[in-house]
Amino acid sequence: MSVYDVVILGGGVAGCVLAARLSEDPGRTVCLVEAGPDYGPDVRAWPDALRDARALPRDDVWERHVPMHRVRAKVLGGSSCVNGCWHTWPSAADHREWTDLVGPQWSAAALEPFRQRAIAQMELIPPPATELSAFATAAVDAARALGFAEVDMAATGSTPGYGVPLLNAIDGVRWNAAFAYLSAARTRPNLTVLGDSPVRRLIVRDGRVRGVVVDGRAEPVTGGAYVLAAGALGSPAILLRSGVGPARHLKEVGVETEVDLPGVGANLSDQPGVFMPLAPTPELNATLAAQQAAGDLYVSRVLARAATAGAPAGGWDLHILPVAGPPLFGKLPPGQYEAGISAYLMKPASRGHVRLHSADPADPLDIDPAVLSDPDGLDLATMRAGLRLVERFADQPAVARWTRRTGPSPAELTDEELRRRASVYWHPVGTCAAGPDADPDAVVDGEGRVRGIANLRVADASILPTAPAANTQLPVLAIAEQLADTLRRTL
Ligand SMILES: Cc1cc2nc3c(=O)[nH]c(=O)nc-3n(C[C@H](O)[C@H](O)[C@H](O)COP(=O)(O)OP(=O)(O)OC[C@H]3O[C@@H](n4cnc5c(N)ncnc54)[C@H](O)[C@@H]3O)c2cc1C
Repeated sequence: MSVYDVVILGGGVAGCVLAARLSEDPGRTVCLVEAGPDYGPDVRAWPDALRDARALPRDDVWERHVPMHRVRAKVLGGSSCVNGCWHTWPSAADHREWTDLVGPQWSAAALEPFRQRAIAQMELIPPPATELSAFATAAVDAARALGFAEVDMAATGSTPGYGVPLLNAIDGVRWNAAFAYLSAARTRPNLTVLGDSPVRRLIVRDGRVRGVVVDGRAEPVTGGAYVLAAGALGSPAILLRSGVGPARHLKEVGVETEVDLPGVGANLSDQPGVFMPLAPTPELNATLAAQQAAGDLYVSRVLARAATAGAPAGGWDLHILPVAGPPLFGKLPPGQYEAGISAYLMKPASRGHVRLHSADPADPLDIDPAVLSDPDGLDLATMRAGLRLVERFADQPAVARWTRRTGPSPAELTDEELRRRASVYWHPVGTCAAGPDADPDAVVDGEGRVRGIANLRVADASILPTAPAANTQLPVLAIAEQLADTLRRTL
């Protein structure tokens, strides 16, 4: 039986960072355990669908043909292999919120070196001008006409405004965290990567993890320290199956409680979005077709950030996202495209959950982001403000030149219709939230230590107690870089 110094559970964005950084010290043995396949060190050998940054892959996910909020990657590299490749950074208000809840290590200044380190390692770049469609350019003109200033979307200390994100896409190839972090690290003799190895549960006894039960392996995988990095939907599920979570829920599903932690799987937060479709003119269809033929058509490349009256000082609470190209779902006849503008609520008040239906890992999880459900109706009100802004974008001459309004005004939609239409931005967080000792719902402290278990940390999106007003991959990368830095000094 192998015993590693560190066992990392989940080979996604955070898992790749941790595995690469912790194995930089040759004296430390590291094992990275990933449920999905490892397509290996040769970037060209990876499936085309995962490499193609122009579309979102449908394979290498945990479940197919499910509502959007259940979509998550099952492959080494995690959701960076299937995602939209966008990188933006939180607002000053987000950092204030996090330092209040978690501690000074998540201030803008403390995270800055790790933001920069992640950008360099992922080789993040702004999109080349050729990737902006006529519709994206029109949206930029509309943003200017509406008084938005151009801003750096991935910088610290930025403001509301319009701009382009940084991308983990190089020459059309989605540059995932496995490429960026593991390509060099894989050759190290002290790093073991186990693909196709779903973690069933941790063996927890007397406040310590004693090993990990992995499907397909006769013996538990064991180590001195364990880091959970199975994502905001995967990490709480592993903890719950291991008897770490709310005692009442564990009893309901027949799992013996090892540590009663009410916050595990609670507090699920994802950013809801509502799409306002616009009918492309024949001219827009023609220019999109030409760009697609040239291999340069990307559905979205620009965004605007806006602050409603309820936004925190120094922050923003909306992303306005214009899109034009092949539809996300379904198919259109050749030469025809989908266009429209979405409002995404970046600081939702609503909270959902991840729970088990049973202790069987093959049983699909109970995942409910409960979007637009907060009892005070704050999220519905902010969404309505966002959709009013979407309409103002759509009515700008620059945008109206390429599209026409179709269907009812979003203002006419009932609350129920808004909820039915709401999708998510695919940025789930909060299910193993970091927080102070005094908070009974906090699952980990500011360095990812799980309360009540001496040798276990969580390092992924699940530990963010609140969603940042940003896409989550860059914050997750930076926080994992910071945690790796701490662990290298303390393990
Ligand atoms: C479709 C989609 C589009 C997105 N677009 C963007 C975007 O454009 N920009 C952005 O910033 N963010 C985007 N995101 C979100 C971003 O990818 C995540 O915030 C980020 O990947 C979170 O990293 P993580 O390490 O927490 O989890 P993940 O990267 O999801 O990694 C979790 C890993 O753990 C593994 N795992 C789970 N359970 C087990 C188990 N039982 N045993 C072993 N392994 C397990 C999974 O297979 C996965 O590889 C998108 C997400 C999705 C799904």
